[in-house]
Amino acid sequence: MSFASLGLSAPILAAVSEQGYETPSPIQAQAIPPVIAGKDVMAAAQTGTGKTAGFTLPLLEVLSRGQATKGNQVRALILTPTRELAAQVAESVEQYSTHLPIRSTVVFGGVKINPQISRLRQGCDILVATPGRLLDLYQQGAVRFNHLEVLVLDEADRMLDMGFIHDIRKILAILPPKRQNLMFSATFSSEIRTLAKGIVHQPVEVSVTPANSTATTVTQWISPVDKNRKSALLSHLIKSESWNQVLVFTRTKHGANKLTKVLEKNGITAAAIHGNKSQGARTKALAAFKSGEISTLVATDIAARGLDIDQLPQVVNFELPNVPEDYVHRIGRTGRAGASGQAVSLVSADEFKQLKDIERVIRQNLERKTVSGYEPVNELGSSPEPQAPKHQKPRRARPQSEHKDGQRSGENARGHKPTGKNRRHSGQAAGGNQNSPRGGSDKQGTGNQASEKTTAKPQARRSESKPKRSFSAKSGAPSPWGNR
Ligand code: AMP
Repeated sequence: MSFASLGLSAPILAAVSEQGYETPSPIQAQAIPPVIAGKDVMAAAQTGTGKTAGFTLPLLEVLSRGQATKGNQVRALILTPTRELAAQVAESVEQYSTHLPIRSTVVFGGVKINPQISRLRQGCDILVATPGRLLDLYQQGAVRFNHLEVLVLDEADRMLDMGFIHDIRKILAILPPKRQNLMFSATFSSEIRTLAKGIVHQPVEVSVTPANSTATTVTQWISPVDKNRKSALLSHLIKSESWNQVLVFTRTKHGANKLTKVLEKNGITAAAIHGNKSQGARTKALAAFKSGEISTLVATDIAARGLDIDQLPQVVNFELPNVPEDYVHRIGRTGRAGASGQAVSLVSADEFKQLKDIERVIRQNLERKTVSGYEPVNELGSSPEPQAPKHQKPRRARPQSEHKDGQRSGENARGHKPTGKNRRHSGQAAGGNQNSPRGGSDKQGTGNQASEKTTAKPQARRSESKPKRSFSAKSGAPSPWGNR
């Protein structure tokens, strides 16, 4: 199967080939034709399956056939739960539309609103947005949806987990009822299906991975260890295994900061990324991680959601998540685009319940490897045999204490909003270019616009091509991309 056979036109095919993509991934093969045909689509696809191109490429095809945008109007709206994901999706939109006269831009909280207002003034074909900032902009009259043709809800499951349901409903109420709707979610829980009922109409359903299964190219194992020896074990593994690009998950923001300090003390270059860090600090940490300047990025679940780091080799669960589905999301950070990866969890005796829940959800018991010198005094219980799947009520995620990225500043549910008195919250501690006392706020700008993309671009800018990225499986494991 080729991209050309999916009905994409030459400018889009050229951009795809410049990205080095040779074959459509399964989600792309399934989603692109119905989207081009104008149908509503509901797709179950984890991060790493190529879902962004799965909706962006046909969206560009649809928009390139219609009328250009007018002042303050938006033709396609892509909603994402986090700022990072918004920035990444916007970057993809820019790359794939490089040969088209399509204007796109991205808006999210934590940065100044005025530059966003001016960018929207000229109108844009594609707007990528987090819900809270979008509502702020709408209320200020900066954006209008009278000509909206397509709505994309990306990572809809995460939107619900993060409590954006009210914002989503408010946004739906201001959109014209006649529009094309695309909904992407890692899983189709009954909550997602309820939400979908009010959004998509007679959707084409596509799904590339069975619900809650982890990517097949990821080698997963756990290391039983006492709680108080986890930092030492992690430092040991990073050094002895020469892990030079590791994404480490902690449960709390405080835990992320504390672990980062211990790693640094042990001579490991690390940075923390979480909701209390300003956008500038997060962008800086991510850039340092991607460039190899630091080897270890310590993140909370919400901050890590949407990070697109190509072929991340190593993910570590420093603590197991309370919500087992988050394990699946975390593991989705590695083995992306058909590359193989390794996911290691450091598990202490008090996390036995979380371990059992995870093993039940992923329907497999994780291999245990005790590292010599780090044998636990408090033994981890034995896992029961994995059960055949039962039909269950989906678990509700615990309310998140993390700052909610797309949330507006004035709302109660915003979690631990930084206050003006705590210097650490200003982002200065992490080296961000911050001048606002409320670094994480959606309304108060931080002055750092580094990660914001203005992508109005009339003509082609890229000439160089990326190396070919195919879907052939590595190390004998079946590739999530298939071989077509
Ligand atoms: P996503 O699931 O959208 O986050 O995409 C995961 C990664 O796969 C990104 O780095 C994309 O650039 C890459 N990707 C998307 N489509 C393809 C494709 N057809 N071939 C190879 N890589 C792809």
